[in-house]
This record gives sequence, structure tokens and C-alpha cells, in this order.
Amino acid sequence: MAIAALIVAAGRGTRADAAGPLPKQYAMLGGRPVLAHVLARFAADPAITAIQTVIHPDDRALYDQASAGVCGPLLPPVAGGASRQASVLAGLEALARHNTPSKVLIHDAARPFVGSDCVGRVITALDHHTSAISAIAIADTLKRTGAGGIVESTVDRAGLWQAQTPQGFGFQEILDAHRKADAKGLHSFTDDAAIAEWAGLEVALVMGSADNFKITTPEDMARAERMMAALPSETRVGSGFDVHRFTPGNHVWLCGVRIAHTHALEGHSDADVALHALTDALLGAIGDGDIGQHFPPSDPKWKGAASRLFVEDAVRRVAARGGRIVNVDITILAEEPKIGPHRAEMQAAVASLLAISPDRIGIKATTTEQLGFTGRREGIVAMATASVTLPA
Ligand code: MG
Repeated sequence: MAIAALIVAAGRGTRADAAGPLPKQYAMLGGRPVLAHVLARFAADPAITAIQTVIHPDDRALYDQASAGVCGPLLPPVAGGASRQASVLAGLEALARHNTPSKVLIHDAARPFVGSDCVGRVITALDHHTSAISAIAIADTLKRTGAGGIVESTVDRAGLWQAQTPQGFGFQEILDAHRKADAKGLHSFTDDAAIAEWAGLEVALVMGSADNFKITTPEDMARAERMMAALPSETRVGSGFDVHRFTPGNHVWLCGVRIAHTHALEGHSDADVALHALTDALLGAIGDGDIGQHFPPSDPKWKGAASRLFVEDAVRRVAARGGRIVNVDITILAEEPKIGPHRAEMQAAVASLLAISPDRIGIKATTTEQLGFTGRREGIVAMATASVTLPA
């Protein structure tokens, strides 16, 4: 039995994002976009056989970033319409074109704390109902106000519920209901259950969760950050080591900084030995192979490549696991060039690559007292350590 998840991420609301013009589903939460959390939760649910996301046509790059590293049955995203309702219909039509599921769970991209228990309750209820939605009872007393915000009456809250998502439906039933509403020019339904009700489908309620709130305001975003910070995490440490030999030339690259020198470093890429060690330290912290595995020197694509590409890839891999880089520490072993005059620039370059503050970047250098190959000025060694927190 195929159960699809349809994630509605086409909205333009930017109220929640204090940091910039990003729609709230792409705002960073605990080190990755809100949408990435949602996709990861549905992708991890073995009952979900396909995930169809509906996005705004301008957001393809943001979607690609958010979905990078999410392992699961993700279908290519489709563009939404002018309203939430039109976007859901676009997603349903896309699912119908591919392989029609028997059931669909429709979920807001701005509810990143949807629990597997909640998803499970909706799916179970669909065994007996064509529609089942997650909802919570209203705890507060409800007031109706009139002119000037003055209370006119108290509303009896018995039988009143707050509808959440996921909202689950028989696929054909909700597709038909959406098509019918669209054909009749009715476009102001605020959730899919409302369309199901209008179409005469019976809608059952299952217990939702207060944690499954929709991020709408800056206050919601702050609450989401607090919840994310309270989730159990663990700290990982990785180390990296690299050597490159000197070759004729007039500059070396170290930590992304070009330094004039009597020699160059030999290598397939720009031979930035420090960034190579750093890449391996990051990969080591998440147990994800090494730089040579992800960027084989045999591949001509990486000839002369800027080593920042390797670091950026490792940073993406950390982020895809929900990880956060705490600090890194790099030691360069060389008789020359002198590192001191370039330290601040290197620290700033690495901080910008990792998107963390410069005080989390250690740049150290030492000679080897003229001993060994570094002492004989045959090449440069770099060592790096990286500390990463991951969700436990
Ligand atoms: Mg190397």
C-alpha cells in the first residue's frame, strides 16, 4: 500500500525570519533549513513510500540545499500555485501523474516537529476513515470581541479543536475534492480537511501535539530554536593529516590564502594542504570517508580546483546530518613560508568557509627544527582537528 507525503512549501511568508528575506520554511533552525527537518522526518518513516514537495518556482536552489543529504523517496519538487489550495492541487496532480498512491498525508513545511507517533496515528485512522487529521483540544477560554477590541461574549469551547497537519486522505477522494473545488472557482479553503468536508467526506480527528506547531512569527522561531537546542546531541571529533611536496613556482595556497613564496606546492588541485587536512577532519567527525574518496585525484574534474570546494562539500555533509561545527584547529608544519603574517587572513577565510566565528578557528604553525622532510624544506605538513555536534 503506497502512502505519499505531500509537503506544502510554496508559501512566501517571511515573518518568521528575522535574519533576512528567506521564506520561513527555508530559515535556518539548528543548523539546517526548517524544510530539511520536515523532509528528514518523513524520509525516516518506513510507512511513507514517496515524498512530493511543492515549492515556489523561485525557490529551486533553496529546495536543493534543504533536500541535499536527505535519504528517502524524494520525488522532484513541483511548482505551486497562487494559493495554498492551488499548491496542494499541483502536488496531488504530480503524484497522480507518477504512480498514484492509495493514501496521502498533506503536511505544512513550517511544522518541523511533527512526530512519528502523530504521523502513525493519522495513518492508522485512515484504515477506517477516508480522512483523518491531527488536531489538539483548545485549552484557553475563547472570547469574541467587537468594536475596539472589547469582549462581547465568551465562546463555548466544547467540541472545538485546532486543526494541525499532517492531514491524511484517501488519495483519489482528496484529489477529486480538490479538482471539484477548483472547477467551481472555490479557492479560499484554509486547509485540506475543509475541502474534504465541503465535498462531503467524513473527517476524523486524531490526537495531535502541542510541539507540532506551525512556525509563523519570530516568537515561534525562537521557540523552535529552544526546542531544537534541548534535543539530545553528541559531540564528535575528527582529525586530518596531509602532506604536499614543493615544486617550482612562486606561491602556495594555505587555508584558502594565496601566499607568495619561492616554491609552489605540487598537487592535483591547488594543493592547499591545510584545507585538505581540514576536509578530512570534518569528514572524520561524521564518519564519512575521506577527501580522496569523494574527490578522486584520478578525476580530471578536480585538476587545479580551488580546495575550498572540498571543504564546502564536507560542510554540506555535516549539515545534511543535522550537524553543527563547534570548532576546528589547524597546525601547519613548515620552515617557510612564515605563517604569522597571514594568520588573521587565514582565520577569516576558514571562518567564512565554515560559517562560524573566527574565534572557533585555530591556526597554528611550527617548524620541525630543521629535522625531517619539512626541515629540509621539501614540503609542508598540515594537521587538523574538527569538533562537530550531531543529533543523538
Ligand atoms: Mg592533499
